[in-house]
Amino acid sequence: MINYQSVLQDTYQKICSEENTGEVASYIPELAKINPDQFGVCVKTVGGEEYGVGDWKAKFSIQSISKVLALSLTYNLLGDKIWDRVGVEPSGNAFNSLTQLETDNGIPRNPLINAGAMVICDMLISHTDDAKKELLEFINQICPDSKIEYSEKIAQSEKSVGYRNIALCNFIKSFGNIENDPQLVLDFYFHMCSLEMTCQELSNTFMFLVDDNFRSTKGEKVLDMQKAMRLNAIMQTCGFYDESGEFSFRVGLPGKSGVGGGILALHPDKYCVAAWSPKLNAKGNSSRGMKFLELFTSKTKSAIF
Ligand code: GLN
Repeated sequence: MINYQSVLQDTYQKICSEENTGEVASYIPELAKINPDQFGVCVKTVGGEEYGVGDWKAKFSIQSISKVLALSLTYNLLGDKIWDRVGVEPSGNAFNSLTQLETDNGIPRNPLINAGAMVICDMLISHTDDAKKELLEFINQICPDSKIEYSEKIAQSEKSVGYRNIALCNFIKSFGNIENDPQLVLDFYFHMCSLEMTCQELSNTFMFLVDDNFRSTKGEKVLDMQKAMRLNAIMQTCGFYDESGEFSFRVGLPGKSGVGGGILALHPDKYCVAAWSPKLNAKGNSSRGMKFLELFTSKTKSAIF
């Protein structure tokens, strides 16, 4: 039996004793204001136990981790049709890269890079009455006992300097792979990225990809087994952009990062772990989060490989 609490505490202390390297994401003005020394981790197991350390109950901007939630809702609504408009290959490029889109005719390599997430946002706008509202409802139904909300401040802050994302969305539109007005798609995309959650809420929310018995507050299964398996496969291969291979190699779990410094990783049938520390490495992934998870899976011998 693994003593998760003592593994969390020992690993946390070890990492806190080392230099806090990297830089906070300063390209979004609101994110640049964050205290860089905050650091929290939460583990939730299929048995229902929950363990936390540090700032695990502090809200932070989950940024790109939200892409998995939007993808889950879309996958449920549209099924395999979504793969006609977005691929499932790792991009090997930065999250906001424009280069491959030209040769790939506006079909993003995968749904976890910005370009792919925008196409998913476009699908949700086309197939819901109010995409922003429905995504929020979906998340609140799988994260009971919490109130998850967008941060208007962060959404507006990103929008005010979102030149690259604006270019990306318009570029995809020029290939015909965005149906709606790019401004509408970008507004939804920036709001999706602005969602705020704690490590505790994140690890609870993503249990639907871990535990086959998980049910939403409506008593429903969130995704069937095959779809959950496929989402985990995409996180494994594409969840960390051009550092996805490195994360797989060092940590050995499917996961997803965000430029707010959060990382969500999970072991199907065992547990979900969320780590948060705002300073990012050169690839845009949390430096301490990466180090923590590497030590965590090696100490608990719980990589999936
Ligand atoms: N909102 C961020 C962006 O579009 C999301 C990127 C990320 O978290 N990797 O740049």
